[in-house]
Amino acid sequence: MSKEKNAAEQLKEELLIERKNGGFLLEDSEIAEADAFCEEYKRFLDAAKTEREAASYAIRLAEQNGFVPFERGKRYQAGDKVYYNNRGKAVILAVYGTEPLENGVMLAAAHIDSPRLDLKPRPLYEDNGLALFKTHYYGGIKKYQWTAIPLALHGVICKKDGEKVTVTIGEAEDDPVFCVNDLLPHLATDQMKRTLNEGIKGEELNILIGSRPFKQDEPSEAVKLNIMKLLHEKYGITEYDFLSAELEAVPAYHAKDLGFDRSMIGAYGHDDRVCAYPALMAAINCKTPKKTAVTILTDKEETGSDGNTGLNSSYLKYFIADMAEPFGVAGRTVLSHTKCLSADVNAAFDPTFPEVMERNNCAYLNYGVVITKYTGARGKSGTSDASAEFASEIRSLLDSKKVLWQHGELGKVDQGGGGTVAAYIANLNVDVIDLGVPVLSMHAPFEVVSKIDVYMAYRAFYEFFSA
Ligand code: MN
Ligand code: MN
Repeated sequence: MSKEKNAAEQLKEELLIERKNGGFLLEDSEIAEADAFCEEYKRFLDAAKTEREAASYAIRLAEQNGFVPFERGKRYQAGDKVYYNNRGKAVILAVYGTEPLENGVMLAAAHIDSPRLDLKPRPLYEDNGLALFKTHYYGGIKKYQWTAIPLALHGVICKKDGEKVTVTIGEAEDDPVFCVNDLLPHLATDQMKRTLNEGIKGEELNILIGSRPFKQDEPSEAVKLNIMKLLHEKYGITEYDFLSAELEAVPAYHAKDLGFDRSMIGAYGHDDRVCAYPALMAAINCKTPKKTAVTILTDKEETGSDGNTGLNSSYLKYFIADMAEPFGVAGRTVLSHTKCLSADVNAAFDPTFPEVMERNNCAYLNYGVVITKYTGARGKSGTSDASAEFASEIRSLLDSKKVLWQHGELGKVDQGGGGTVAAYIANLNVDVIDLGVPVLSMHAPFEVVSKIDVYMAYRAFYEFFSA
């Protein structure tokens, strides 16, 4: 039923931005591809709830697909696939291209850490017959959201003799889980007067872990003692071993299809596994590219990218220099010609909270992968503002490969803001733009994304590497 377009309609099509839900624009076969891609993505989410687990998952998958550990000093050939493991918490994957490294590399950078509750160095205590863990939250959370939900414990404990114990408890069907308790509404008169920010305070995020005492002799702290006895039996640890542990409490539930139409995924940790997984798969599926394709899955983004596994450290710079050195090329030469997609999420428009968004400049669920020219707060502070030239290059690439994309800013100008690793990479003299997946309830224990947008992120990284 196509009717002739009148002059105004025609002109509109030629001159104006028209944004549309991908559900209207994509072929059924493409939507089916997106759904199939997301089945694997959900498995990744369940298997990789922490940066360490995401790093091992990436390495395992890379090895199965011909990647080998990077050796310094080696002159790699086009088509060679290598990976670099940074302390088990961050990974760089590279597929060598046919062009020399001095032409720069194509870089995709996502992060694999997510907001969560970390255990304090001395977490275990008993109070009035209950055993609890003290926590110190990691990243920007709304603290009240972390109460009264099932939590699992993931991480490592390094004993004094160097032995490393891996802990994952709360994931298997018959595993116990843990939780942070909240006050009953009946007695919350005072609590309800607190601001939302203070509704649950940092020192109230205590995780309930046991309630039965160790029977003999009725010593004090018998419940704590009983928990320590169980942990000693299971992991061979004493209370001192918590001092050299990284234990992270994360939601215990699995990723789920969301909606009657199953068009979305609800899960913990989409930010930023929803970009990390597509970037990883683009690296895995990348055929010998022209320019060397480098994927970096980094840690510590949620706390500001500081530390030796975060992108404020020099590990990316050193890796590029190590790649370049056998060819007699300086690392800075490679970096100065490098192009980067900083792969991180952006906020999706939420009809329940429209007031924080400026509708012409925000991202919508199902409208495709979102290009964010700059992030930042208070007048673009703390951001890399991608150049018009580079923005043009990326949108032209996506259009030519029919990758569904949209543009978006992180909310209204004075509403708040945020940042990504884009700024740190741009500071290395790299051309960078943010490109990622729009998310609802970002940083909540249950975040929501659209399957179409996840798949379009994969297609964007894949085409970027193949360009
Ligand atoms: Mn992020
Ligand atoms: Mn985040």
